[in-house]
Order: sequence, then C-alpha cells, then structure tokens
Amino acid sequence: MAMKSKVLIVGGTGYLGKRLVKASLAQGHETFVLHREEIGVDIEKVQMLLSFKQQGAHLVIGSFNDHQSLVKVVKLVDVVICAISGVHIRSHQILLQLKLVDAIKEAGNVKRFLPSEFGTDPARKENAMEPGRVTFDDKMVVRRATEEAGIPFTYISANCFAGYFLGGLCQPGFILPSREQVRLLGDGNQKAIYVDEDDIATYSIKTIDDPRTLNKTVYIRPPQNILSLREVVQIWEKLIGKELLKSSISEQEFLAIMKEQDYAEQVGLTHYYHVCYEGCLANFEIGDGAEEATKLYPEVKYTTVEEYMTRYL
Ligand code: NDP
Repeated sequence: MAMKSKVLIVGGTGYLGKRLVKASLAQGHETFVLHREEIGVDIEKVQMLLSFKQQGAHLVIGSFNDHQSLVKVVKLVDVVICAISGVHIRSHQILLQLKLVDAIKEAGNVKRFLPSEFGTDPARKENAMEPGRVTFDDKMVVRRATEEAGIPFTYISANCFAGYFLGGLCQPGFILPSREQVRLLGDGNQKAIYVDEDDIATYSIKTIDDPRTLNKTVYIRPPQNILSLREVVQIWEKLIGKELLKSSISEQEFLAIMKEQDYAEQVGLTHYYHVCYEGCLANFEIGDGAEEATKLYPEVKYTTVEEYMTRYL
C-alpha cells in the first residue's frame, strides 16, 4: 500500500483549521501543525496546539516573518494545507499566503498544496460585487502565484459553512436559528449548498493523496444539502414543530442596507447577496477539469441539513 502523505496544516487553530488537523490525524496521516511564534501568550491557542500534540500531531515552530523558518517546516512534509483566515468580520489574511507559496517553491518537495479557499469558487466570481469581491480577488492572486511556481494544487470549493448559513437561517448577523421569525432573502427559492465543517475537513484530507484531484478544483456538493432557504426553513420548522413568521427583503432593500454598513460587514453581505439572491453556488454544472467530492468519496457519510440542525434544538 502507498505511504500516506505527511501533512502540514497552517492556521490549525482556526475555525476550519482545527477540523483539518482532526481529520488528517483520523485518516492516518503524520500531521504537523504550524505553531506561529506570534501567537505568544494566547492561552486558548497554545492549549489547542498542545491538545493536537496529545492526539499525535507534531507542533513545528515557524513565522510568516521568517522565510527560512517556513522553508524548514515545509521540507518536513509532502502536503501543505493552509486555512489562514479569510472572513472580514473576524480576520482576512489571504494574501499572506504568498509568503507560504514562496517557501513551498524554495523547498521544492511539496506534492500538493491546498490554499485557504473552502468557499465559493473564486474563478467563477470575476463579476462579483464590491467590496466583497476582495475575497475572491485575493484567493485568485494566491492561485496564480501557486500555478506560476509550478506547485501541484487542489482547490476546495466547500460552499456554505453550515455554522454560519444554517445556524443563522441565512440571516446576516445571526448564527443561531430563530424560533419565531425569518426574513427570506428575495423569494427564498434560490438553491444554496450547505456543508458541515467537519465534513469539509474530511473531504479535503481525502483529496490530498488522490491522483484524480491533482491540479483540480473539488466542489463539495452533498446532494441532500442543495436546498433553497425556504426548504431549510421547512426543515427547521419540522424540527421545532412550529411555523416561523415569514417576511421577505427585496434585492434593492438588501443592497441599500448593505451600503450603510462598515467595510467588513459589507464584504460579508456581498457574499450573502451572491449566494442567496443570485444562487451562485448551485447555478452551474461542474465541468471537465473539476471533481465533486461526494461522488469521489461515496464512503463518507456526510451530515445532512436536518442532522446538522438538530444541534440547535
Ligand atoms: P480563522 O479566522 O478561524 O483563522 C484561521 C487562522 O488564520 C488562525 O488560526 C491563524 O493561525 C491564522 N491567522 C490569522 N491571522 C494571521 C496572521 N496575521 N498571520 C498568520 N496567520 C494568521 O479562519 P476560518 O477558519 O474562518 O477561515 C478559513 C478559510 O475558510 C478562509 O479561506 C475563509 O475564507 C474560508 N471560509 C469560508 C466560509 C464559507 O461559508 N464557505 C466561512 C468561513 C470561512 P495561527 O494559528 O497560526 O494563529
């Protein structure tokens, strides 16, 4: 049997990153987690890193301010997965990855790089709206640098993180579902795709030693989780045994409210706009040169929307 790749996770203390560490260990990969010197006395992060070590991961010290330190840790592994932050209301550091790309290029040993993507496919967002397009533009800058450096890659398009979009019933600013009311975005009929973050991590790790995903985009589209907001609300109503009071916010109203928010909020709202009014996640066929995760890995039992939402009961 072929040896499993050694994996370095960068951003392993993050919301998605910690799940990638867990999935990498669970799938039997020797797993290295970057411990950035800059986290200093952040006790939560240090404790999390120590818990990874207890679970069998190796902690490796490095810094984005020290190129050679990154080269050194990259040389220890076959695969680099980056889950650096990219949500403006929390932190957005996508372009810092250019330093990681430089290190991977110099190290010369990496067989696969998964940059911090895990959302809407940025290659399909050349007409995205300001200011939210910054997320896609920056991710494309990292893609170009990766490809120009000749680094083998896989791009994961994970669609909606369930915690944000199901948790809040697609209501911007909310991550817990109301038991009283919901404001549909437009008619609420555009389909989106919701994925449990642990499943995103599982599928991502599955791709790393798979020749079918080399230099490709992998979309995660669990068939049962391709739903309109109305359908998501129905599932929630069934779980709580009660109908929500429904209203709707038109596209024009949504855009007008968006313009009054600060920059970070506007970036997030742009993403809700593309997903919920345009249906940008599900309105295209996956063409040649790309793959779909649930078809590649039918053995993974993914979490359905209904299963995910039971946690809010
Ligand atoms: P987090 O905000 O949780 O941050 C992840 C990591 O980024 C941190 O643990 C930290 O690593 C690292 N980081 C932060 N600041 C710096 C810095 N200055 N220098 C170096 N590293 C830094 O990230 P998320 O998990 O929210 O996002 C990961 C990816 O997922 C992004 O690409 C994002 O766009 C995408 N995403 C997609 C969503 C969707 O619905 N599809 C929703 C949310 C995110 P360290 O441990 O080293 O400090």
